[in-house]
Amino acid sequence: MKFANQVAIVTGAGRGIGRAIAMRLASEGARVAVVSRTEKNSEQVAEEINAKFAGLAKGYAVDAADHAAVQTLCEKIDGDFSRVDILVNNAGITRDGLSMRMSPEDWDAVMETNLKGAFNFYQGVVRGMMKQRSGRIINIASVAGIMGNAGQANYAASKAGLIAFTKVVARELATRGVTSNAVAPGFITTDMTDVLPQGVKDEVVKQIPVKRFGAPEDIASAVSFLAGAEAGYITGQVLTVDGGLVM
Ligand code: NAP
Repeated sequence: MKFANQVAIVTGAGRGIGRAIAMRLASEGARVAVVSRTEKNSEQVAEEINAKFAGLAKGYAVDAADHAAVQTLCEKIDGDFSRVDILVNNAGITRDGLSMRMSPEDWDAVMETNLKGAFNFYQGVVRGMMKQRSGRIINIASVAGIMGNAGQANYAASKAGLIAFTKVVARELATRGVTSNAVAPGFITTDMTDVLPQGVKDEVVKQIPVKRFGAPEDIASAVSFLAGAEAGYITGQVLTVDGGLVM
């Protein structure tokens, strides 16, 4: 088992991409702290994992944007599992609108969840990883953070910030056995993209060289690779998983 005796925290794992990442890491032997904003969602995914891969998961609920609550949760997870080897910062939201009309509340909400949320969990686990001299930090960014996207000033800026944060952490922890990388998904079929009007989806597909949206499992494969021992010499990188959209 690739991740035997390893513990992973996956945020935003109640649905979509995070759920697929949690399932994938558990299928490869990791014990997984399944974190989402709503308890019902994280509990359900943890139950699903435990039904398939006996006793490997536990569900937790927190607002990723709340620094104090996240520190308390990370202490609890450390108490429950004794260590954390892999942190996947995947919790994210959109509040789209043209930049000139975007409300400060929508700007802040996206920054606080997508960017500060990742910082919060990072601070919750980094000391433990430094002490054990090993760890994998994987931040789920977006192609929007690389190429921009009209109507997503807040979201694209949060994801570009997350990419910069990933690289800073990579440099700071490079000699401590901890790698830090980002995965930048393109358009993936989840609740987040289900809300797009069909006309927009059709236009997007025309831009994607492989001519289809990706699946959450496509992102989970990239995360599994970066979390594994074979990726130990890869740090500070952004892996786009987007059917060729950005190249
Ligand atoms: P999703 O289906 O909307 O699921 C989002 C998850 O994040 C949910 O589990 C949600 O919790 C959790 N979450 C949201 N706000 C939170 C908060 N404040 N605290 C804790 N958890 C929170 O989204 P997705 O499409 O799977 O996206 C996952 C990640 O991939 C996001 O970071 C997104 O930006 C990124 N991404 C997605 C796409 C795409 O095409 N789907 C493309 C590029 C990047 P609940 O379940 O409890 O509501």
